[in-house]
Amino acid sequence: MNPVTLVDLRASFEEELRAAIAAGNVQPVRDRYLGRKDGVVTRLLKDVASAPQEERRERGAAANDFKKYVEEHVAEAAEVVREAAQRALSQRERVDVTLPGRLPALGHRHPLTLVRDRMEAIFTRMGFAIVEGPEVEDEWHCFDALNMPAEHPARDMQDTLYLASPMPGEAWTPAGPRPDDERRADLRTMLRTHTSSIQIRYMQAHKPPIRIVAPGRVYRRDDLDLTHTPMFSQMEGLVVGEAVSLTDLKGTLLAFARDMFGAKSRLRFRPSFFPYTEPSAEVDISCWACDGAGCQMCKRSGWLEILGCGMVHPAVFEAVGYDPERYTGFAWGIGIERVAILRYQVDDIRLFFENDLRFLEQFPY
Ligand SMILES: [Zn+2]
Repeated sequence: MNPVTLVDLRASFEEELRAAIAAGNVQPVRDRYLGRKDGVVTRLLKDVASAPQEERRERGAAANDFKKYVEEHVAEAAEVVREAAQRALSQRERVDVTLPGRLPALGHRHPLTLVRDRMEAIFTRMGFAIVEGPEVEDEWHCFDALNMPAEHPARDMQDTLYLASPMPGEAWTPAGPRPDDERRADLRTMLRTHTSSIQIRYMQAHKPPIRIVAPGRVYRRDDLDLTHTPMFSQMEGLVVGEAVSLTDLKGTLLAFARDMFGAKSRLRFRPSFFPYTEPSAEVDISCWACDGAGCQMCKRSGWLEILGCGMVHPAVFEAVGYDPERYTGFAWGIGIERVAILRYQVDDIRLFFENDLRFLEQFPY
């Protein structure tokens, strides 16, 4: 093999190597030139062994130089290909560590829960305790003890969902004195029609002074329409002590209204009737949307109906064993849906119970 042949061989090797780098794989070129059995370089070295004695030294040196050249360039090319592949991979799997993380999608509280929590917070700040009671009640706690004896017309006014099974027993019986009336065998059980039954249970178990609010679900035999549902929520309030007056009632409710609906809120008390309070009143709040000037929300009246209240009837104190000569008190019941409707200007109470996310997502924390 003469030097010109080696120069040609080197040129074609370089060309093949460039193509192999572009293709991202130098192994075929390595096999072709350095293959142990049949490689171009291997054959070259074999040729040296069979060459005439006087040419061996020179050809051997040239062949070894070429072998070294090929080995170095193949190794270099393999490194270039490996780095290019690495770059391509890191480009594909690139992570931008400066990007903000992805937050998990959080749910949020139902608008009725938001309103109830807010109401609870307001009354808690005023020193009220939050208490609860059973949704399955007996007639005595729901009607009799609240000055609605069996023949009382107010009892017919309540469209009650009575239950077939008897009261679940002693589990809910308060620790206080238990009037004989409460042990009557003919007492029917029912889903409570108002949270006022919680007042009775609490008074049976505690002595005055009392300052509680009692939120909870109540049930009536109502058809579903824009303003009625068979189940809704109330928050009952009760204050009992010595010399508790109507002025205290007005002050308490005004403080609540101003906290809930704005500092400019005013209240209007209209005489009303409830069997368990005397005197009784329906309370309107000045429309917070128009400040009393009259708008669509308040139907041009400037006022919105919000709750019922009154001074606790002496018969209620007698039912729970309080001395009506010594103690006075006031109570109110407010619909939580009613507050939510007024606060969020929702015109259909059913929206609160349909669990349509498009509706629920409109209420911020
Ligand atoms: Zn208005």
